[in-house]
Amino acid sequence: RMVSAAPESGREEALERALRPKGLQEYVGQAKVREQLEIFIGAAKKRQEALDHVLLFGPPGLGKTTLSHIIAYELGVNLRQTSGPVLEKPKDLAALLTNLEPNDVLFIDEIHRLSPVVEEILYPALEDYQIDIMIGEGPAARSIKLDLQPFTLVGATTRAGMLTNPLRDRFGIVGRLEFYNASELALIVKRSAGLLHTPMDEAAAFEVARRSRGTPRIANRLLRRVRDYADVKGNGHITLDMANRALTMLDVDPIGFDLMDRKLLEALIHKFDGGPVGLDNIAASIGEEAGTIEDVIEPYLIQQGYLQRTTRGRIATQAAFRHLGLEPPKIEPG
Ligand code: ADP
Repeated sequence: RMVSAAPESGREEALERALRPKGLQEYVGQAKVREQLEIFIGAAKKRQEALDHVLLFGPPGLGKTTLSHIIAYELGVNLRQTSGPVLEKPKDLAALLTNLEPNDVLFIDEIHRLSPVVEEILYPALEDYQIDIMIGEGPAARSIKLDLQPFTLVGATTRAGMLTNPLRDRFGIVGRLEFYNASELALIVKRSAGLLHTPMDEAAAFEVARRSRGTPRIANRLLRRVRDYADVKGNGHITLDMANRALTMLDVDPIGFDLMDRKLLEALIHKFDGGPVGLDNIAASIGEEAGTIEDVIEPYLIQQGYLQRTTRGRIATQAAFRHLGLEPPKIEPG
């Protein structure tokens, strides 16, 4: 999959970091979350206190990591970054927590994947800035309480529903990130093109934006591929025609669906008569993990009205049939 929403490694990741906005003012879209954060960050700074813990949720690539960096930047504190699966043992988390300076931000990505024993020591840390750690082994082992500096946990997850209740309850600020509209993404694309010193026509920026599945990470990645194309096939200037040809080569269709989107809709329609079909069945039929379908592929198809999640399973909508050039099945009256 050439244009997935998951971060890549190496050079691509370095480029992605370079395109990250630094401050809240540069962060495009997400008006609701931005407004909340502006107020709460302002208040915390005024009182010289740690900002309340923040939970950010939404599909990958919408700007959760970026926002955590911005929160630390706006607060003028350090950011420590880790992720749920990396914190294997309580002592991994304890080491991070005890090294925080006053009001620092600790960012835990994929926080729904914390192990229960690690999550357990997080509760008192979040509530009272204290942790209980075990000293020694065997019969001589004892637990001691350690005081921590006040800090802010920023947790990110693709699925808020997978957090345990006690963990969710400890976040004072909850921000749900939404897909971006085309004009917001066009702003991001134009800003990125500027940072990459790439001349780009307005119409080309809008075309890339429109075909980026509502996701800044995909917009930036498509921009880099379109830029490569314009460098090799033209003089580096990205015109609408260049953008269109590059996007066609990348298998991004006119409404921005990629190969996996189409594969999912095609399977749903051709193998399961449009559904309803269970997630595991559809996952097996297209050879993709159920989790990836749920977190990465489906949310955009649902938001765009091409797919529905029902209690009986997934259903292709009339728009999905039409998109594949098929006649939608007759809706029975009543
Ligand atoms: P997530 O953590 O939700 O997977 P990231 O924060 O890593 O997403 O964002 C992916 C990329 O998209 C970043 O490199 C950043 O440049 C860009 N991006 C995300 N949100 C915005 C935004 N609101 N404004 C500008 N660029 C953004």
